[in-house]
Amino acid sequence: MIQINNIGKWYGNFQVLDGCTTRVRKGEVVVVCGPSGSGKSTLIKTVNALEPIQQGDIVIDGIAISDRKTRLPRLRAQVGMVFQHFELFPHLNVTENLTLAQVKVLGRDTGEARERGLRMLDRVGLLAHKDKFPGQLSGGQQQRVAIARALAMDPIVMLFDEPTSALDPEMVGEVLDVMVQLADEGMTMMCVTHEMGFAKRVSDRVIFMDQGKIVEDCPTTDFFGES
Ligand code: ADP
Ligand code: ADP
Repeated sequence: MIQINNIGKWYGNFQVLDGCTTRVRKGEVVVVCGPSGSGKSTLIKTVNALEPIQQGDIVIDGIAISDRKTRLPRLRAQVGMVFQHFELFPHLNVTENLTLAQVKVLGRDTGEARERGLRMLDRVGLLAHKDKFPGQLSGGQQQRVAIARALAMDPIVMLFDEPTSALDPEMVGEVLDVMVQLADEGMTMMCVTHEMGFAKRVSDRVIFMDQGKIVEDCPTTDFFGES
């Protein structure tokens, strides 16, 4: 479903991604880990073209990103992304946050977008908060809304960039629970995370990065050994 072929990216003379090659199959959950600054966040952001690359290519569902530049918003709908900081629109309530991109990017009518958004909100267990503003929600709740917002776009894959790192410890579990549920439902996922419990229990494969290179890419059971 996603092919990442020998990608390279530089900031000036500094090479942040160095010959990264991997693929993610439909329904697979891949965890990307490695030291801070090794390029994990940059790597997954290349998949929805938030980070342009200078070498190699990325193919999603048979189409190279470089061949579809004019349709970036559509690509970003197909490739849902959840960030460390929830990035909800603070001046829009939860329902409006869930609806806006569906209308603007997918051209859905407001009623349909609202219905789909609320269905996703229910899925993450927050329907009761539909009229609140982001500032009235906890960090964990905001992150679950951000996940619902991405899901409302009918993505074929979900990218997570340290989705629990900015949360108070007591809220990590509720976000991981939603991610586990998505994995169980067969969502294709690429997750940068330090949550090794999640990696071990939920992921199919682990990619380990160091200094811009993928230095390990193996089934989760191999990565964690026999125990
Ligand atoms: P990770 O997610 O593994 O912590 P990142 O992908 O965020 O790593 O960053 C990889 C490296 O690239 C880091 O050394 C970071 O400082 C550097 N970097 C990221 N963005 C930029 C940028 N816009 N300009 C220069 N260097 C950058
Ligand atoms: P994340 O890991 O979630 O991307 P970062 O704090 O690493 O968050 O980066 C935040 C933003 O700052 C990113 O857009 C990245 O491109 C940019 N950035 C990161 N490191 C550098 C750097 N050394 N020089 C310039 N920009 C950077």
